Amino acid sequence: MKKSLSILAISLLTLAFNVNAQDHRHAVVNPTNPEITEYWDPEVKVITPGTVPSDAIILFDGKDLSQWESAKDGSPAQWKVDPTEKSLTVVAKAGNISTKQKFENYQLHIEWRSPIEPDTKKSQGKGNSGVFMQGMYEVQVMNSYQNRTYRNGQAGSIYKQSAPLVNATSKMGEWNTYDIIYTAPKFTINGGIETPAYVTVIHNGVVVQNHTKIQGTTEYIGQPKNPVHGPGPISLQDHGNLVSFRNIWIREM
Ligand code: MG
Repeated sequence: MKKSLSILAISLLTLAFNVNAQDHRHAVVNPTNPEITEYWDPEVKVITPGTVPSDAIILFDGKDLSQWESAKDGSPAQWKVDPTEKSLTVVAKAGNISTKQKFENYQLHIEWRSPIEPDTKKSQGKGNSGVFMQGMYEVQVMNSYQNRTYRNGQAGSIYKQSAPLVNATSKMGEWNTYDIIYTAPKFTINGGIETPAYVTVIHNGVVVQNHTKIQGTTEYIGQPKNPVHGPGPISLQDHGNLVSFRNIWIREM
């Protein structure tokens, strides 16, 4: 009897507390003043949108390679500029090139074109180049138009890690666009990963990577590595194929 009375008392107390808590919640989620949840300052920065947004840093405008250097030793970049076409083309064996400026989080626009190459060139040997985030994470550039290769190595892949959602590659000899939204990894003071790198890739207007987690450095053989690093350049790959680029700009975020 005594026991059931105590249970009853506890139940009544719990009920009273819940009613009270619910009333309290009700008051919080139904404020009477709409201005409580309106934030005015600081005002959002105004930019002019367009083919190239007004706050973009132009990395290549078709004239010269003043913003670029050899990825290997920082000497002047040796790729070929065509000022008439406003393009930039790989010179085989000249090596990868990198921006002089280093970046962390950004929106990058870059256009690329596979050269016309014979059918004897196939798979990874056809129109291969790449765009490297922070100099170490590759979004693959490749002639993937009617040219099969391993799915995590075709155009729009995070090379050897993540296949693109679809193959949106233009015909050989035609221009492609990449819009890349990149978030740099963050590291703990002990050298661990606090948050990994993430990348979204839009290829010719089509999402092919949707906030994809980057597992680590791009490795041809073996597993990705995760060295602690700071800001890094945008690098373009010399894979021996004469791939061209144009209209390269970036917006830091
Ligand atoms: Mg490549």
